[in-house]
Amino acid sequence: SRRFFVGGNWKMNGNKGSLGELIATLNNASLHEQTDVVCAAPSIYLDFARSSLDPRIAVAAQNCYKVAQGAFTGEISPAMIKDCGADWVVLGHSERRHVFGESDELIGQKVAHALQSGLGVIACIGEKLEERESGTTEEVVCAQTQVIAENVMDWEKVVLAYEPVWAIGTGRTATPEQAQEVHEKLRAWIRANISDEVADSLRIIYGGSVTGVTCRELASQDDVDGFLVGGASLKPEFVDIINARA
Ligand code: 13P
Repeated sequence: SRRFFVGGNWKMNGNKGSLGELIATLNNASLHEQTDVVCAAPSIYLDFARSSLDPRIAVAAQNCYKVAQGAFTGEISPAMIKDCGADWVVLGHSERRHVFGESDELIGQKVAHALQSGLGVIACIGEKLEERESGTTEEVVCAQTQVIAENVMDWEKVVLAYEPVWAIGTGRTATPEQAQEVHEKLRAWIRANISDEVADSLRIIYGGSVTGVTCRELASQDDVDGFLVGGASLKPEFVDIINARA
């Protein structure tokens, strides 16, 4: 009953030439109609991505700031993202948290402002390897989810992306059982702390070394409602991932 949701996170990759080729591939591909597809482009290419991509594919920014405008050199606002025709923003990505030092508090403020501005939010959470190894995965991802939840009034425009840090860009995809275990716990947390309705409708998607090969079994798990894809979203195999549940 939850629509499958597949996001491609291009990160800081590509140029108009290579992204244009990728876009042509996606535009010409046969994509499962029951799947929501979103491409997260570098902010400088949002306009380019929106004007080149087929309208059945949504566009996301990879980050934004927490206010609409002002003296914040180098930042972009949800209003600007919308002005470029994009409908989504990725927030709290592990690279924002760990390379750029974004705190839970800042991510929460960004989530609140982006939603108030009318953007959909792909909110990312995930534990580090040492946290998994010390048995604190559930505690860590629920604490991250709590801060996001405190900033959400309307869950309809939120997708929760579970991206274990140890699986991102490492080729070490979580096993279907590992992903399902955490997704199930996250849905139980939502059920206990938000509502049955939100627990039943919220898409919880998995990210971390998803490929055309690993996607199918992951997609068959009860609580895996889609993917957030990095490296493989820049390749034609992204089409196979979009169609993983077709
Ligand atoms: P990879 O698919 O390259 O591991 O990246 C995952 C990711 O961070 C998506 O946001």
